[in-house]
Amino acid sequence: MIHGLVVTAPEALYRCGHLSERFVKGISPICLSELTNGQVSRLTRGMFGRKLIQLIRTESHDNAMLLKKPGKEFPQKYPAIKKIQENHHTMEIEIITVGGYDEVGRNMTAVRCGKEIVIFDMGLRLDQLMIHEDAEVDEMHSLDLIKIKAIPDDTVLQKVEGTVKAIVCSHGHLDHIGAIPKLAHRYNAPIIATPYATELIRQQIAGEKKFDAKNKLFALPAGQRYTLSSNLVLEFVRTQHSIIDTVTPVLHTPHGAIVYACDFKFDRSPVIGQPPDFARFRQLGREGVLALIVESTYIHRPGRCPSERIARDLVRGVITSFEDDKNAIVVSTFSSHIARVKTIAECAHEIGRKPIFLGRSMEKYSVTAEQMKLVSFPETASVYGNRRTVDRMMRRMMKEGKEQFLPIVTGHQGEPGSILTRLAQGDTPYQLAKGDKVLFSANIIPNPMNIGNRYVIEQQLKMAGARIFDDLHVSGHAYREDHYEFLQMLQPRHIIPAHADMKMTAGYADFASELGYTLDNDVHLMRNGQRLKIT
Ligand SMILES: [Zn+2]
Repeated sequence: MIHGLVVTAPEALYRCGHLSERFVKGISPICLSELTNGQVSRLTRGMFGRKLIQLIRTESHDNAMLLKKPGKEFPQKYPAIKKIQENHHTMEIEIITVGGYDEVGRNMTAVRCGKEIVIFDMGLRLDQLMIHEDAEVDEMHSLDLIKIKAIPDDTVLQKVEGTVKAIVCSHGHLDHIGAIPKLAHRYNAPIIATPYATELIRQQIAGEKKFDAKNKLFALPAGQRYTLSSNLVLEFVRTQHSIIDTVTPVLHTPHGAIVYACDFKFDRSPVIGQPPDFARFRQLGREGVLALIVESTYIHRPGRCPSERIARDLVRGVITSFEDDKNAIVVSTFSSHIARVKTIAECAHEIGRKPIFLGRSMEKYSVTAEQMKLVSFPETASVYGNRRTVDRMMRRMMKEGKEQFLPIVTGHQGEPGSILTRLAQGDTPYQLAKGDKVLFSANIIPNPMNIGNRYVIEQQLKMAGARIFDDLHVSGHAYREDHYEFLQMLQPRHIIPAHADMKMTAGYADFASELGYTLDNDVHLMRNGQRLKIT
């Protein structure tokens, strides 16, 4: 329920004695001064207790007053207030949880505001495809992919009345953008993402063989806004994650902000980029957050997620200890984790080895980031994408001496066909020998297939005589106390836990209930394909 407040100027607001100090602090004078008389502000909102307050500006200074207190009716004499009420009655807000609510992967959520719909993410579920990072899904049909639960079942949106205004992606991970080439062409709407994610999406669409998505691509940098319609404004708030250029998209509606926080971590000392924009999150909380759609992946982990700087120390500690070692050092990590790849390359350089990036996905993410000037690798680094050049470089490393190089490869999950798997099986020109080192700068993504594959690959590496260094890694996802801090900042009216199966989303609901939220009232457990109206 929205409660009205009429103001003429920021100073007048500060003179309103009956407003709580917390509320007055939450009002941005800049937002107010941007308003013309009678205009209803979408962005200038505050919390009065736990009630949302909408600000408008009137002609007369004398009208500065709180028009409605809880339990009382709106006075009808101000046209602008009537407008708020009309909007309030006609503009329904609905959240449609399309995918990523029964599993980790294939994320997709739609928000309907009146007759306008905004889609957040269109992701792929990799383990469902049983593919590795270099796999081809380019030729598969979307309905076949929906059937095997690899992409979101967006047919639920056919029953939702309204026009899709935008497809918004928070970052470039495949579980957020991977289904775009298969689904986006069904919607006559632009795709809006951060610059790095936009470039990855462009490459995804270009590689697609079955469909031809012609949606306009729009790169929106962190900290900027995009006006979708007279009622909807999209804002990208800077955050951190295990891929560069990640944001928390915020959809400003006449009923308050809807915050889509999938995925994020609160890294205050990141290796690349700036820490999350905590000041803006706090401000959003003061303006009024109607709903928070939030990842619940690691809600069960106590404390805070360690900074990427800790992972850098772990990796550096091990690699620099091999300074005088003549054996091979091979490191496997996530190809999309540019900050980690940079750390590994710099450590190789530090001990006098040339960093060699091997594999198509390594090439895709690193070269794209470097070309966009989002990262710089040591001058001695080089990259080999396709199998022919990879094999040629491997022969060269064997010939010139393994101690001069440090290959960085994919395959830490033991994916069949990946470079590390081939290497472990002795199926590459680069042969492992007794005393060679293999470092895993990644966790095992916990599903039975990965656990099994990883076990096999480790046994094979050990049989080849390799020494194994595991878990040189920190997560890219928020832990329990990060989530606590986030809720303190945003004070959302509704919470929709996402990005996980029911075990984890229920864990989030349990956590939220400790903070005063009530299941089905203001924290909502959703499954794929469900719809939820909120007020
Ligand atoms: Zn992610």
